[in-house]
Amino acid sequence: MFLNVFYIISFHINYDLFRGDYLIQINNLKQHNEPFFAQYEAKFQSFLRNGYYILGDEVRSFETAFSNYIGTQHCISVANGTDAIELTVRALQLPQGSEVITAANAAMYSTISILNSGLKPKFVDISADGYNLDIEKVLAALTATTKAVIFTHLYGRGTNLDSLKKELSKKKVFLIEDCAQAHGCRIGDKKMGSFGDIATFSFYPTKNLGALGDGGAITTNNSKLFQNVIELRQYGWGKKYHLKEMVGRNSRLDELQAAFLNTKLPHLDKFNARRIEIAETYLKGITNSKLLIRKWNNDGSYVAHLFPVEVKDPALRPLLAAYLGENKIGCDIHYPVPDYKQTPIKTLFESTRLENTEDRCNKVLTIPCYPELENENVKYIIEKINKW
Ligand SMILES: *Cc1c(COP(=O)(O)O)cnc(C)c1O
Repeated sequence: MFLNVFYIISFHINYDLFRGDYLIQINNLKQHNEPFFAQYEAKFQSFLRNGYYILGDEVRSFETAFSNYIGTQHCISVANGTDAIELTVRALQLPQGSEVITAANAAMYSTISILNSGLKPKFVDISADGYNLDIEKVLAALTATTKAVIFTHLYGRGTNLDSLKKELSKKKVFLIEDCAQAHGCRIGDKKMGSFGDIATFSFYPTKNLGALGDGGAITTNNSKLFQNVIELRQYGWGKKYHLKEMVGRNSRLDELQAAFLNTKLPHLDKFNARRIEIAETYLKGITNSKLLIRKWNNDGSYVAHLFPVEVKDPALRPLLAAYLGENKIGCDIHYPVPDYKQTPIKTLFESTRLENTEDRCNKVLTIPCYPELENENVKYIIEKINKW
């Protein structure tokens, strides 16, 4: 312990970081937002005085700016990323009993939306060498009752979905992208959120583009789906006080959160560039043979929302987590339990076993990767991990 302290000091770590539970937290939202405080305050002042608090100019201008950024015709803002998925699934107006394919290695986000919509989740394995759905396995799993696929670009690792989209279109199966971890992630110039029929985003404060509270959005080029989501987010109204086709709910992005997001959106690419730089430094620097780091192309297709390492032996994961804790390095597990093993639903999926999904759930550990992390912090983390 004493040795660790000397070690830390000898690397001239920023002393500000001694605030909080960890020397290096898994995220530092205050530090992230601090440069924008003056702009936020100005936005808040005008918001107060404007007197327009719901679905006003900030929401409209954010929707326009975000659809332009993603490269879709439409953007509808909603209350959070989970609502975004659920409203999207409902907007498809699928027949009762339809199956929706999804991965099982996130924290239930897509599965909740499928179940809450009264549909059946069908879990398909992720690829042998990555974290996202295996496209071949998705195609092989399609049946007559499969009506949609939710593809999550996990950790900010984007997948080119052109071929999947083409195959699914032939079979009239919808493709939904969950881009909650992939704001700004792209293949060439094409952004995640513009490959599928419709896509969802979260602006939870830790995301690559985060509000100062909850927020979410849906992007699409499909005018019918756009119209359905517009109605679903406000009770199901076609026109005021009149339900049109569907029973909706209230799920609106707050005007004030939209104002904060308008302030930050122009900085998203810069945040992502710094995340990618940190990830590249980890990739080059971490050489501990007990760990595996899965490679990516440094071409904007990974925006380093999260940086997972994998222990080769699952029994070592709690030891690594404890070691990092002793060295004041925050870490987390994204995510420990496959959806089909979650307590309230596991009896429905007793026969489901996905090899790659379970492998990753047992081995991944996330280390700090956020734009404000200093080079000295990154260097310290690499040295500690290599010493382990
Ligand atoms: C965060 C997240 C969500 C949920 O977003 P909320 O705004 O918290 O509801 C959905 N999917 C993924 C992959 C996420 O990371």
